Amino acid sequence: MLRVMPFEQGNASMKHLLGGKGANLAEMTRVGLPVPPGFTITTDVCRAYYAADRKLPEGLFEEVLSAMKQLEQAKGERFGDSEQPLLVSVRSGSVTSMPGMMDTILNLGLNDETVEGLARSTGDARFAYDCYRRLIQMFGNVVFDMEGYHFEFLLQRMKQQQGFDQDHQVTAEAWKTLIAEYKAVIAKHAGRSFPQQVIEQLQLAVEAVFRSWNNHRAQIYRNIHQIPDEQGTAVNVQSMVFGNMGTDCGTGVVFTRNPSTGEHILYGEFLMNAQGEDVVAGVRTPMPIAKLEEELPEVYAQLESAAIKLEKHYRDMQDIEFTVEKGKLYLLQTRNGKRTAQAAVQLAVGFVKEGTITKEEGIQRIEPFHLDQLLHRAIDTSSELDVLASGLPASPGAATGQAVFDADTAEAWSRAGKKVILVRSETTPEDIHGVLVAEGVLTSRGGMTSHAAVVARGMGKPCVCGCEPIRLRERAFDVVVTDSVTATIAEGEWISIDGATGRVIRGVVQLREPELTAELVELLAWADDIRRLQVYTNADTPEDAGKARSFGAEGIGLCRTEHMFMSPERVPVVRGMILADQPEERAAALAELLPMQQSDFEGIFRAMAGLPVTIRLLDPPLHEFLPNMEELAIQYSLLSQQKIGNTEELQRVERMLRKVRSLHEMNPMLGTRGCRLGLIHPEIYEMQVEAIFRAALQCLDEKVDVRPDIMIPLVGHESELKIMRELVDRKAAEVLGARLSTVHYRVGTMIEVPRAAITAGSIAKHADFFSFGTNDLTQMTLGYSRDDAEGKFLTHYVESKVLPSNPFQVLDQEGVGTLIRWAAAQGKSTKPQLKTGICGEHGGDKESIFFCHAEGLDYISCSPYRVPLARIAAAQAAIALGNPSEQASIKPAQSA
Ligand code: PEP
Ligand code: MG
Repeated sequence: MLRVMPFEQGNASMKHLLGGKGANLAEMTRVGLPVPPGFTITTDVCRAYYAADRKLPEGLFEEVLSAMKQLEQAKGERFGDSEQPLLVSVRSGSVTSMPGMMDTILNLGLNDETVEGLARSTGDARFAYDCYRRLIQMFGNVVFDMEGYHFEFLLQRMKQQQGFDQDHQVTAEAWKTLIAEYKAVIAKHAGRSFPQQVIEQLQLAVEAVFRSWNNHRAQIYRNIHQIPDEQGTAVNVQSMVFGNMGTDCGTGVVFTRNPSTGEHILYGEFLMNAQGEDVVAGVRTPMPIAKLEEELPEVYAQLESAAIKLEKHYRDMQDIEFTVEKGKLYLLQTRNGKRTAQAAVQLAVGFVKEGTITKEEGIQRIEPFHLDQLLHRAIDTSSELDVLASGLPASPGAATGQAVFDADTAEAWSRAGKKVILVRSETTPEDIHGVLVAEGVLTSRGGMTSHAAVVARGMGKPCVCGCEPIRLRERAFDVVVTDSVTATIAEGEWISIDGATGRVIRGVVQLREPELTAELVELLAWADDIRRLQVYTNADTPEDAGKARSFGAEGIGLCRTEHMFMSPERVPVVRGMILADQPEERAAALAELLPMQQSDFEGIFRAMAGLPVTIRLLDPPLHEFLPNMEELAIQYSLLSQQKIGNTEELQRVERMLRKVRSLHEMNPMLGTRGCRLGLIHPEIYEMQVEAIFRAALQCLDEKVDVRPDIMIPLVGHESELKIMRELVDRKAAEVLGARLSTVHYRVGTMIEVPRAAITAGSIAKHADFFSFGTNDLTQMTLGYSRDDAEGKFLTHYVESKVLPSNPFQVLDQEGVGTLIRWAAAQGKSTKPQLKTGICGEHGGDKESIFFCHAEGLDYISCSPYRVPLARIAAAQAAIALGNPSEQASIKPAQSA
């Protein structure tokens, strides 16, 4: 097992062993960039540490100490030396970037003796003692798990008592007093003193960083981003450089391009005379990087050339951390920069056009879920806004919600169904559960690279940062709007934020639907050339169909006709149909519904002219169109108690109640729905089919090319489909008459009942196409009620890893996927030209799309806003997996 590796021996390809940070530090060292020397303790050690029940492997520390010897030689300093002490940082570095989730300790190697050596060697006692108190504070936090406020309180009290405003005004003597207090607070809380032995410091720090792999926030982050627990973190031990030794020093973060927009400019922030985490933590609001050019032009030039070199080298936008020590630039980290969706698209297209990467690589650089972000809503420019203040536009998209001031409240309120905006002075990794549920995040401090900004961008949430005009109080904030107007927003009041401009607005605002940018249109066109899967949409209205078509949908894969029954003006007619006791009564209600349905279909056919429109006949049980049984029973008992009651009303309610009771089912999801309904009440399906064909004729008369595909839901037995198909064909002949051959319609079925999947070979005899309804197929294969599971046991199952993910979001390939594979193969062996696709929610999920591609399905169908995402994911699948063989074969299921 490789346990310890000096930077000069590693390279960028060793990420799994060295972590992202370690691998990139090694790579930068290799290409001759100015990196302070150091070494990495590998992720293998982390895994061994956990395998041995949190014990460092035997002999590891001898290796670490020998690597420290090399560091001493490189720096001409000695660890623990009272004259020229070597100081190191100890930082986590996971394989997949997890910003701010794990721990870091700086200035390690200081103790009561070496601090004096540092004071003498730098000639700056104030600086040396500042470093020492920072070490003790971080050590307390990280090694002894002490809350930051123990130290913050003492610091603030000392500054107040001694009349210091800023940290850099604090004298060496004052730091010494504070250090004594810090040591006392550690002794009290940790039950031991702050270690004076530097080797013990190093050992405790390394273990603490390994421990931090399993802290609460890191676990949550891994869950959200699906990072495997066994990946582990590496630990980087690196000699310190100081950004806080005077006005020719500083520290910062720079992106080689703008990570919000993708614009080709050096973009970032720095703080003069500051150390380490000050920029990332967002504690002070930093200056834009362009200012560095004014302050230290030579350093800026070096930084610019390093940025160009790194971007060329990695062929991607870099996020670089740097420190300037006495006018000399050091690079402390580089990684592929996190980016907004807008920037991701801009960068991918830009790099392809610059010839840096291929179109395939450009497409692979897009995270499909990030496209959700691009299709985020924005504030409608025509609406009147009550703008309270402006901050930094840290993550795009607009959001409206009730203001909450801590993450726990955000979580509780959101669980109660409220929309919240999380407002904090700055966020720390402990707030992650609040950020997760919030519509958006607003902070009063911190820059574009602060924790809040990075996390929100990663999650695609709107975020406004560093909004300094707002002053936070207990569960409220004040803001000076004009000289004479001060506003206060209390917890629960509605506010809106615009992450694209940084505006903070009072009240609810109108949001505008998103549009495709020119770059995205171009990228999608490249994706279309590469993908094999067709991308359809699930749409029930002409508006949705039109929207989806503008996003590139190539047809409708699922039009749920029940939605047409639910509009308020139709509900009375639908109820009339259901309540009818006599066939004539029902026929009259259906006759009233027919033209309404016909006009719906005409609208959809027009919007999708020339493309297939898959119309599913009525699916839900009829009681869904009637009032709630319990409410009716209460209404009935109230009415019947009234002395001079309205008998007509009483009779109406009684009749309704009788009908609702007769339709009531214990398990409606497994009851009279789908084709079962069509078999019991053929007149309803007949009306729908008639409406479809009448609409088709009308459109043909208007020279609109119509392609109706009629889909029968919830088939489980071939005879169900056989009967329904006969109904459709009979009705087609009746309505179309002599024009039968002019309407090219197909009849197919959803495959959403396990029996249908298993007997797909027989079912295919009566079907022109199969559409896998993976919502029901998942429900029925796993036996999880789709309406109940998510609110009950499923969250627990996913959190405690009983299941790898929510099977209603990510297709259960081992179970449901095996049924799909079997059904597609059996169906095609009966009917080679059988068209196959998927129309459950999984049609918009990347992993599931990869599965559909691999299994040779013909299309996927998803909601309109997911169409661009699906086009990209389908192309990514084709790039990553190649094209599957024409005939899917039955392979043994792979275990998850
Ligand atoms: C399905 O079951 O996957 C499906 C698309 O139908 P619905 O969600 O309407 O039941
Ligand atoms: Mg279904």
